[in-house]
Amino acid sequence: MKKKVRTYRIAIDGHSSSGKSTIAKSVAAVLGYKYIDTGAMYRAITYKILSGNISPDDIDGIKNLLNTTSIDFYVEDNKNFIILDGLNVENEIRNLKISEMVSEVSAIAEVRDFLVKRQKELGLGVGVVMDGRDIGTVVMPDADFKFFVTASLEIRAIRRQTELEAKSKEKVNYNQILANLKKRDEIDSSRKHSPLKIAEDAIIIDTSYLTIDEQLNKIIDIIENKKGKQTK
Ligand code: C5P
Repeated sequence: MKKKVRTYRIAIDGHSSSGKSTIAKSVAAVLGYKYIDTGAMYRAITYKILSGNISPDDIDGIKNLLNTTSIDFYVEDNKNFIILDGLNVENEIRNLKISEMVSEVSAIAEVRDFLVKRQKELGLGVGVVMDGRDIGTVVMPDADFKFFVTASLEIRAIRRQTELEAKSKEKVNYNQILANLKKRDEIDSSRKHSPLKIAEDAIIIDTSYLTIDEQLNKIIDIIENKKGKQTK
């Protein structure tokens, strides 16, 4: 008789530039699961607010904007693209200008309520890997696995610098990135509405000195181990 193999809902939270998106994407690809990058959703809203010249203090303006916003993902060749109001904005949301404003925007209760609701919808069913800051605590508190990915601030800054330079083909200032990550950690951890915190039942993965393959093997081993036990 064929063994029944369970599929899971996996939450991967962590600090900015800890490598959580890379690892979450790889875990989803290995397991053949859907991948949801919730940071991209906060970035997309920030992009729309900036494009509309709306101030983050203008709550009525933000409410109106959210009332006419749709967010989705489109997958092609194993790559995820974020779709804002029907348009692919993947290239517009990954720059320092958005990074500098996104934590302020994601501390706004109305924005979080709107996106958490959408994330819960996207995470319905099984076979999903979702990454963010509050996935294990707020969006999918009942996830089968919760990982919290981190790395030292300096290592995260070097990684983000390398990534931005590769994309823009221009030099990017390390100190500016370090300051941005530090500020985002502080805002994310201290905001009133669903702050970044480690879920009690999360497994911590420090990626400072691990290659991507080592991180992936570690996570897959943990998942396979549980799967193995359940199918025996
Ligand atoms: O993951 P990424 O760095 O792209 O996320 C951008 C920002 O979005 C974070 O710095 C954080 O302020 C916000 N965010 C959040 N909650 C999530 C995902 C991202 O507040 N679940």
